[in-house]
Amino acid sequence: MHSKVVIIGSGPAAHTAAVYLSRAELKPVLYEGMLANGIAAGGQLTTTTDVENYPGFPGGIGGSELMDAMRAQSERFGTKIISETIEKVDLSSRPFKLWPEYTDEPVTASAIIIATGASARRLHLPGEAKYWQNGISACAVCDGAVPIFRQKPLVVIGGGDSAAEEAMFLAKYGSHVTVLVRGAKLRASKTMAKRLLAHPKVTVRYNTVATEVTGEPEDRGLMTGLRLRDVVSGAEEDMRANGLFYAVGHDPATAMFKGVVDMDAESYIVTKPGTSYTNVEGVFAAGDVQDKRYRQAITSAGSGCIAALEAEKFLAEAEDEDVEDGMEGENQAAKGAGGEEYRSNPLL
Ligand code: FAD
Ligand code: NDP
Repeated sequence: MHSKVVIIGSGPAAHTAAVYLSRAELKPVLYEGMLANGIAAGGQLTTTTDVENYPGFPGGIGGSELMDAMRAQSERFGTKIISETIEKVDLSSRPFKLWPEYTDEPVTASAIIIATGASARRLHLPGEAKYWQNGISACAVCDGAVPIFRQKPLVVIGGGDSAAEEAMFLAKYGSHVTVLVRGAKLRASKTMAKRLLAHPKVTVRYNTVATEVTGEPEDRGLMTGLRLRDVVSGAEEDMRANGLFYAVGHDPATAMFKGVVDMDAESYIVTKPGTSYTNVEGVFAAGDVQDKRYRQAITSAGSGCIAALEAEKFLAEAEDEDVEDGMEGENQAAKGAGGEEYRSNPLL
């Protein structure tokens, strides 16, 4: 099977790209994955309850509900959604080859949008599974404003820029924020570290790790504390905490592109600043897979739009070249019924 454009992934970036590309009549095929990277189709938002910062939903919306709506919108305009994981790709020549799980024969595509996302690292502490989303979160910007954290002691684990940013964000809501750093120093940038250390509502504790999360025993009970260990002295103590936020890094889902698509030291795909262009012509990247800084549904959706418009431009240019070469055949399929080419962005 050949498609003009294949989208790999199923979060806000993938579905936004799908909406734009299907409206541009490019008949995108979207592989949404089957628990790819340990996450259900629909992406990271399927692992949360209410999303309160996505514009258009003044009362908030459930994460899964929002992703179901995005999926329906992609389908409405003709995106073909396949519930399989792409396991392998060959990007050495066009058309690109992609192997869905459990198949020997590859599918091919003239352009690819990588929107495979990322997953927040967890620490797998005793008690973590019970209190996940009942006090524990991996996204302060997403969850910090909920009532259970108001005027309560909160803890952030991590010593990087995310930990610093999240701690200062949480300080608006909690009574006090303690940042637990496993080593003897912060990894955050100098400016960020300076601001964090000067914050009146934040305490940074070095050489300290959490060893257990404790809380209300009942089903759906909330966390109320942490057990800590000083890694130098070995001393243990209990601490009251009603919120625990992990900021220990994310893992982008990029393994199958290693060595072919340029990545940074932490395996995030590198895109040309302000665009979705990767180093491979015809391969675009959008969403958390290429954004280690903002990691929000709305920024992912925005970059999915950019990737779609850039893929559309790339395909139109490739089509023009084919026409010049007298190879009009398959590419004419992208044109509208009247033979007029539809482009979602008249500037392209
Ligand atoms: P992702 O959502 O990461 O989805 C990628 C999808 O691609 C996954 O379903 C994965 O299974 C699939 N995939 C991966 N590899 C393959 C493959 N090889 N083949 C096929 N499919 C594949 N953001 C907000 O703005 N507001 C919030 O309130 C909010 N709350 C959050 C709560 C939690 C618990 C978490 C973890 C995140 C939250 N975020 C929130 C962040 C937000 O979810 C992400 O920024 C956003 O989902 C990233 O979107 P994405 O399109 O890059 O992909
Ligand atoms: P980082 O990888 O920079 O930091 C992760 C932190 O988590 C480190 O302090 C690390 O400790 C700690 N950590 C990792 N594993 C564990 C563990 N098992 N137990 C305890 N602590 C642990 O990730 P960030 O998300 O902070 O940042 C990612 C990138 O995004 C960076 O390049 C950062 O500069 C950038 N960023 C920039 C922002 C800005 O400029 N405003 C905002 C957010 C991110 P250790 O140091 O000991 O390894």
